[in-house]
Amino acid sequence: MGKRIQYRMTLKRAADHEAAHAVLAEAYDSTVTLVVVRQTKKTKQWVGFNRTKGGRMDHPVPSSVVSYAGSVAETLWHGESRENVSGGDYKMLVAMGMPDQAMTARWPHMAHAWPLLWRLTAGEVRRHAKEIRRVSAALRRRKRLTGDQVRALIAKAR
Ligand SMILES: [Zn+2]
Repeated sequence: MGKRIQYRMTLKRAADHEAAHAVLAEAYDSTVTLVVVRQTKKTKQWVGFNRTKGGRMDHPVPSSVVSYAGSVAETLWHGESRENVSGGDYKMLVAMGMPDQAMTARWPHMAHAWPLLWRLTAGEVRRHAKEIRRVSAALRRRKRLTGDQVRALIAKAR
């Protein structure tokens, strides 16, 4: 998550980010095995990661939406700019074929770099907001959730 962090990465924000990845991965038939948030010793920023397996993640559309979901949740709920995608997610999205922002910056008429992916992902994050908030709240308490815990929380939120 190294790219252009200009803000405090709070626990709430990191948990919303990881919960969005996890809930959408499950929505696309992927199996979450672990979700973690932790605070770095040096900078005191909260960071996190997800582990998943299987599902439709080999398809570019669901995998792009899942990869973008964490940063989209930050934009929708924490006032982050749409252009600010966390480092690891950004690298994955460019590797999947999303245009690099260095290239899209040549077309200033574009509201932001990835308008179609934004619409798809923001729609999915909003549609699954209740589930994401429930997983995020549990992640803030426990800092670590197994796949079974994530699925139980999603089931309760429905
Ligand atoms: Zn992420």
